[in-house]
Parts: sequence; structure tokens; C-alpha cells
Amino acid sequence: MRIDRNIKEKGHDPYGEARKHTEGAYCPECQAVYQGGRWVWSDRPEASGSPLLCSACRRIRDDFPAGECYLSGKYLKKHRQEIENLIRKLIREARQRSPLKRMMDIRPDEEGLRVRLTDDHLARQIGDAVYRAYKGNLQLKYSGEEKFVRLYWHRDE
Ligand SMILES: [Zn+2]
Repeated sequence: MRIDRNIKEKGHDPYGEARKHTEGAYCPECQAVYQGGRWVWSDRPEASGSPLLCSACRRIRDDFPAGECYLSGKYLKKHRQEIENLIRKLIREARQRSPLKRMMDIRPDEEGLRVRLTDDHLARQIGDAVYRAYKGNLQLKYSGEEKFVRLYWHRDE
């Protein structure tokens, strides 16, 4: 029973976000350091242990986001820059707190704006913040199979 569960958890966590790594490992891509059981920014990454690509950098390399936000509607078209600024600010602040919370890209699509992220919670934070600031309609689709969330925000008027 216990073994089954462990296998399942690994399967649900392909990027090892919940896995423990060797203390002091550093990411050669973004220079984050694994300390106290989590990835943190460090002033001296070169002074640490063995290189290990962090899960955010692995997701970016594989082009495999943990969260996606789709924003659409006439209101978005009118207030695009303002809304995009809010999202970018939120992402900047999240990234400062945690190396694993990063934007993969933000780009226009046919409907409006698409943001892809290395962290599912960050996607939810963005949805909450946009909804708090601009109301509209927020929908969340959470995949139970994998650690993945897709979020739709829409406002016309
Ligand atoms: Zn990294």
C-alpha cells in the first residue's frame, strides 16, 4: 500500500517538485540553490554543491508549463496594457520569493492573451488578482492526474 502510493506520487510529480534533493545543489541555468529542503536564490551559488537543473528550468527546457492563464474579451482588448502590467508585476514578485515561480512566456493569441507558468499556484494567484481587480468571469480547470492548472478569465463589458 505504502509502496503503491509512493509510485503514484512520483508519477504525479514528474518534475520532482515535492522530491527532496541533495542539500546545497545548485541550478546551472538560473543559479538557484537547494537549501533547507527548497530552491532559493543565493548570492553565492558557485560556493555550493553539485549542479542540478531545478524543476522550473526543466519545465522551461521541456516547454512543459504547470499552469496556463487565458485572458479574453472586449474589456481585455481595451485595458490590455494595464492588465498585462498587473500580471507581470505579480510574476516578478513571485519570482523574487521563489525560483520555481516563473513565467515561461506571455503572448497574444486569437482570443486575447496567454500566459504560461512554471508553477500552478502562480497561475491561480494571477487569476485571483485579475478577478479581484477587474471582476469578469474566472474559470479554473484543474487536472487531477498531473500537477497542472488551466485558467480562463473573460470580460466583455
Ligand atoms: Zn533553475
